[in-house]
Amino acid sequence: MIGQRRLLARLGEKALEGDVAHAYELSGPRSIGKRTVAIRLAQTLFCTSEPRAAGGCGICLACRKVEHLTHPDIRLVTRLIDLEKDSDKKLIAIEQIREMQQDLALRPLEGNWRVVIIDDAADLSEHAEVALLKTLEEPPIHSVLLLLTPTPARLLETIRSRLVPLPMRLVPTADIADGLSKRFGTDARRHAAAGAGRPGLAIALANDEAARKARRTLEAEFYKLVGSGLTDRFAWAVDLAESERDPQKRNDVIQSRLVGWSELARDAAVAAHGAEGALRPDRARESAALAKAVGQRELVDLALSLDRWRRDVIESNVNARMLLELLALRLPYAAAFAGGAA
Ligand SMILES: [Zn+2]
Repeated sequence: MIGQRRLLARLGEKALEGDVAHAYELSGPRSIGKRTVAIRLAQTLFCTSEPRAAGGCGICLACRKVEHLTHPDIRLVTRLIDLEKDSDKKLIAIEQIREMQQDLALRPLEGNWRVVIIDDAADLSEHAEVALLKTLEEPPIHSVLLLLTPTPARLLETIRSRLVPLPMRLVPTADIADGLSKRFGTDARRHAAAGAGRPGLAIALANDEAARKARRTLEAEFYKLVGSGLTDRFAWAVDLAESERDPQKRNDVIQSRLVGWSELARDAAVAAHGAEGALRPDRARESAALAKAVGQRELVDLALSLDRWRRDVIESNVNARMLLELLALRLPYAAAFAGGAA
């Protein structure tokens, strides 16, 4: 586990003493380790090694079954859209909650608990959420529910009031670097800063050429827009707003751009100031060119705007097209990037 060690230690030590709540809310940005903390808590509860340790031993059969979600007393509830290719099933359906509840009512098979992970809990349909409330009001004695979401504000207040909140923080780059080098060798450390506090993202970049390529593509899109006139920018906004019908997926598409682009704007502002510490060191040339064309003050404002819009996208259902058109207007123009020069 990279980061969140204090949270996990505190949670794990309580769990070892049998001090476990029936329901938790694990919140924090994507790729920060919510799913991993949930798995480690379940391993703490199910591990059969002695002496027992917070986070489990990771080696015994029970720990391995939890890791692979094949332990009979653990269940993952998630939306099925990718499995079933059915556009009607874009949310976690009430049937999934009912099925989970039937299971949860039974005694545990191998351990002393039944653990349910709901990821992303903000994907619950309205009916599913109401059905889940029943379980939270009268939880079976052996039940532990873990609701994971980057957007807790989207859950019903009646649900949230019954959850023990576990907010997760961004992880220091040095911790991510250590974790990466242990897993992938010292060369992997260079991807730590790019994770911007999110170990899951850093692991993907260190481990996965496709993730690196996707990132480069989004960076190129930013610089191309900066070198484009308004007509091309508005065409881009319309295309992107209409590229995905599922609102959640569309928000993800927009969010991934806003995160990355706010970092590019921030790097250019840092470059304009002549300071070190770029989040995207491999884009140093572009950052310098952007800093030369646009004032530092404007770059700082741009980075802050992009970050604020990212939070708007996460927290609520903004009008995607309007937001993208605002973004098209807000981006500075730099002739150095015209015609895909970057
Ligand atoms: Zn174990």
